[in-house]
Amino acid sequence: MSGFTGSSGMLLIEPGLATLFTDFRYREQAEAEISPEVSLEIAPDGLFESLSRRLAELPPGTRIAFDPATTTVRDRQELGRRCNTAIWDTLEGAVAELRAVKDATEIEKIEAAVLLAEGALEALLASVRPGLTEQQIAADLVHTLRSAGSGPLPFEPIVASGPRSALPHASPGSREIRAGDLLLLDFGARVDGYCSDLTRVFVVGRSQPWQSDLHAAVHEACRKAIAAAGPEALASDVDGAARGHLEALGLAEGFGHSTGHGIGLEVHEAPRIHWRESRPLEVGNVVTIEPGVYLPGRGGIRIEQDVVIEPGGRRVLGRSTTNLMEI
Ligand code: ZN
Ligand code: ZN
Repeated sequence: MSGFTGSSGMLLIEPGLATLFTDFRYREQAEAEISPEVSLEIAPDGLFESLSRRLAELPPGTRIAFDPATTTVRDRQELGRRCNTAIWDTLEGAVAELRAVKDATEIEKIEAAVLLAEGALEALLASVRPGLTEQQIAADLVHTLRSAGSGPLPFEPIVASGPRSALPHASPGSREIRAGDLLLLDFGARVDGYCSDLTRVFVVGRSQPWQSDLHAAVHEACRKAIAAAGPEALASDVDGAARGHLEALGLAEGFGHSTGHGIGLEVHEAPRIHWRESRPLEVGNVVTIEPGVYLPGRGGIRIEQDVVIEPGGRRVLGRSTTNLMEI
């Protein structure tokens, strides 16, 4: 909201005035980062102290809303105790809604984060070989992403091999990859604060028919959902395009999560691409499309693309293949 990226701050927005409260450690950073419309207040004795001094000047009965997604219960109690003449309210989803539509500069940054992640994957694959553990591959991936210029990663990469690829959010373990394994990588990069989020699946060595059949099914579900996305398309219909395809193949039971989510400054943002989300997509939304099918004990396939909604359609960000690759 203010442009400030430090880890300690509060933003107070009043009619015609926005004030960022932070502490002296962040003075220089805040001065460099915040937009000119925001005034800066360095709190000498704690953010709550400075903020509550300001709030105390407001007439009793002033309505003050806070963002429940970023305010802890303890913060809320503290604010209520220090400013008990205000009427406290929540701004449910207001900030998330402002962020759901990206401008051209934001889209460029997300696209750069996609390209950076794709480049890192390509570099990583050259060194992946049987005998490496999931953890070692994950460590290499983190190193490659950061060396290529990514900011703090949006999330710890998921590296899941063999039957563990059936765990949609597996954290990398000590399992060594071996010939015949599926290898699922779900990871992203960050450029100027903006995230990418991609998933690719490989086969170590030669693929077996069940692996390529499962991959083909998910690949087509992904293609159908992307084709269904566009301005005015309902998020639930985009989800339905992927789900319907997998249902027709008798695979819907293995697809328990939603088809995608918005990405931006955070890796999960509005809008969600969910079967219960009836909202229409808008030009400027950037969402993931990531159907997956997970067969317990055998393995799973997920393919995740980042897609921007444009006038008349949509555009897939990045250019790396989603075909099943043998490595
Ligand atoms: Zn992902
Ligand atoms: Zn995702």
